[in-house]
Amino acid sequence: MTDRRPTPAELVAAVPGLAPYLRPATLLRPYAATPAPQASRIGGPALWPADQPWPHCTAGHPEEEHTAAAGTAVIVLAHLRAEDAPHLPWPDGADRLQVLWCPNDHDDIQGERYYYGPAVELHWQRAADLAPATPPPPRHSDEYYLPTPCALRPEQVLDLPDRDELPGELHAATEEFTTRQGIEYERDHGRADGWKLGGWPSWHSTDLIPIDCGCGARMVHLLTVESGGAPDLSVGRHGELHVFVCPADLAHPVGLDLQ
Ligand SMILES: [Zn+2]
Ligand SMILES: [Zn+2]
Repeated sequence: MTDRRPTPAELVAAVPGLAPYLRPATLLRPYAATPAPQASRIGGPALWPADQPWPHCTAGHPEEEHTAAAGTAVIVLAHLRAEDAPHLPWPDGADRLQVLWCPNDHDDIQGERYYYGPAVELHWQRAADLAPATPPPPRHSDEYYLPTPCALRPEQVLDLPDRDELPGELHAATEEFTTRQGIEYERDHGRADGWKLGGWPSWHSTDLIPIDCGCGARMVHLLTVESGGAPDLSVGRHGELHVFVCPADLAHPVGLDLQ
């Protein structure tokens, strides 16, 4: 028996069929700190093009009648620099990704079945266009969707998927190797946990749920938001929120999944 998880590189060396499943990812490793406005961060100050209005959430809110959450402003969940995650599908010229979310529950986001949580927006922008902004505070928010501002220690890694994503033969070959090593594939796979960009999502709570865009394309994992830790959020049943993007067009609405 060993206490050490094999690295993705070791898994691929032992089971070459896994090689096409290796994906680059950036572990964000948030820690409580006052982040610099221009740094990659969770929460923190708002930056926005001076000639554009701050976005408002247009999705419906189940508590709307009671809390007047309608038309509430969104907040900064994360501000990310291209150099910290060069493997993301950056549009030409964009060097900042801002992840905004509406810090309320939603149950009727278009195209999202069985989803109950924050509404998420991605904005691919240029640092040169961004200026300090003073957005209106949300008219209503759930406290557990308000992140404690964090700085990040980004680390680029390679990621492998959960077993659910693998074809049967490949899964069997991987399991044969991990069993020989005295480790359990379910737990000791190559997928990295925690806040991350790119790579693969966890399906630890449900089995694999294919996330398809309205255009028919299979969506790809962009961001994992983890409950607890320094950002002190709580998503789902204190689990993870996964944000997916459409590989055909980044302008298509994001896919959302809670684990
Ligand atoms: Zn909303
Ligand atoms: Zn699409």
